[in-house]
Amino acid sequence: MIRAIPPADRTILEQGLKRLKLRRVRELLDDVNELALREEPSYLDFLAYIVDQEIAAREHTQQIKRLKSAKFPFHKTLDDFDFAFQNSISRQSMLDLATLGFVEAHENIVLLGPQGVGKTHLAVALGIAAVNAGYRVLFMTADSLTQTIYSALADGTLSQHMNRILRNDLIILDEVGYLSLDATGSNHLFQVIAKAYETRSLIVTSNLEFQEWGELFDKPATAAAVLDRLLHHAHIITLKGESYRMRSRLRVPPTKEV
Ligand code: ADP
Ligand code: MG
Repeated sequence: MIRAIPPADRTILEQGLKRLKLRRVRELLDDVNELALREEPSYLDFLAYIVDQEIAAREHTQQIKRLKSAKFPFHKTLDDFDFAFQNSISRQSMLDLATLGFVEAHENIVLLGPQGVGKTHLAVALGIAAVNAGYRVLFMTADSLTQTIYSALADGTLSQHMNRILRNDLIILDEVGYLSLDATGSNHLFQVIAKAYETRSLIVTSNLEFQEWGELFDKPATAAAVLDRLLHHAHIITLKGESYRMRSRLRVPPTKEV
């Protein structure tokens, strides 16, 4: 039983906060002290307030770390996406996906369509939503995945690399289909997809239709095995239309030279 609260010694208090790693409380000490003198909250309200401040600061730090380790190629969200231009998908269906039930259920998303229609943008936007919700996310292109696998095979670090990839809740594999894969690449891409199956979520983007995936892998059987896992619990989104990058050339007449 505590009998008496001794007056605080500022130096000892700061040392204690440091030792407990309560960095935010330490930073806020003077401000929060002034605030409390002004507002006179209950002691419990005061304690709850500083605990909340510390938790919020830690969550923010974690979020920044997760955002960095996701390695997104750019930072764009669904708010930045022009659904009027890309009218082959509904805004509502994307907003539904952004509630992240698919990550919770270990389902996949496949975004198909030609160059420039917004596949990477949507994959990144969903990835950012997942990071903000507290999930671990990793973005990589199929090409960078195969490069990683080749160098890991060369220096004997494959299992560490595989673990590092597969510890994420959501793995985004961008641009599957631009480069065809040899036997090693095919086999390891299959390994990633098979290991993620029903325990992780994947977002895969591709310029190829599924019938064309046979040519992407070294054997049609590997393509079939990949598609089997990938599509078992998948939301398939097909984007159509013109490249967004070309839109100004499509819509605005060229300015005349003077
Ligand atoms: P893809 O991956 O299908 O080739 P990207 O997602 O890389 O296409 O899109 C190309 C560029 O155009 C990106 O900068 C992206 O943010 C932008 N973009 C594409 N579609 C849209 C859209 N509907 N609204 C806003 N920006 C878009
Ligand atoms: Mg892309």
